[in-house]
Amino acid sequence: MTDWKRWLRDINITLDDTQERQFSTYYETLVAWNQKMNLTGITEEYEVYEKHFYDSLLASCCYPFMNVSTLADIGGGAGFPGIPLKICFPHLQLTVIDATKKRIQFLQHLVKELALENVNVIHMRAEDAAREVNHRDHYDVVIARAVAKMPVLAELCLPFTRTNGVWIAMKGKSGEEEKIAAAGAIQTLNGGEIDQHYFELPTEASDRRVYVIGKTKGTPKAYPRKAGTIEKKPLQ
Ligand code: SAM
Repeated sequence: MTDWKRWLRDINITLDDTQERQFSTYYETLVAWNQKMNLTGITEEYEVYEKHFYDSLLASCCYPFMNVSTLADIGGGAGFPGIPLKICFPHLQLTVIDATKKRIQFLQHLVKELALENVNVIHMRAEDAAREVNHRDHYDVVIARAVAKMPVLAELCLPFTRTNGVWIAMKGKSGEEEKIAAAGAIQTLNGGEIDQHYFELPTEASDRRVYVIGKTKGTPKAYPRKAGTIEKKPLQ
């Protein structure tokens, strides 16, 4: 995968042999488990490296992960973007929360296969986990990709973010529209400034938007609302 090395160089990431092996084991495990459960529609090796691994790592161009301790990946599914970030920044204390049991079982297996330390994989809905004292207003960085539109995602992510921490929303082309629609939700949930970054995937050239949203103070008591309500009546 010569292109992979070049892509990483362009985003200032260098991998040692252990990290290279972790990415190849990740690929093999993902494809093997994907035969028995639906984890991803992307299985060709080059595409997994570009659209899952590299795409996940774009977050590291937008925020200094070297200075981050606690990272929560909300709706992490098969581990994106949390696991690629953990491989590249092994000091991170990573928590992945997902509502789908089978994906959690995959992640538990993957974490063992990759010998990753300080990874906590939790089978819960984000709305419920964010009410627990050890998760609420706790994480330096909360990240999510392909989970919900931003007005809904704000309510799933900002309650986990500590004051002065950030929520990172990884989006495609629709990000711009979603960001505008999420302005009210971000304000209600004590989100602050939005820092935005635009990318293109190296070969496929599709647009990526990464939004880094600050958290100015603790989450108001009323949020997050119950599962179902958030999607039915997104904050305006
Ligand atoms: N983030 C991964 C990625 O980019 O490949 C997975 C995306 S997948 C389309 C969406 C995931 O979000 C699913 O695994 C689903 O179970 C999870 N999810 C959706 N809503 C959730 C919620 N309210 N709480 C926890 N997990 C949720």
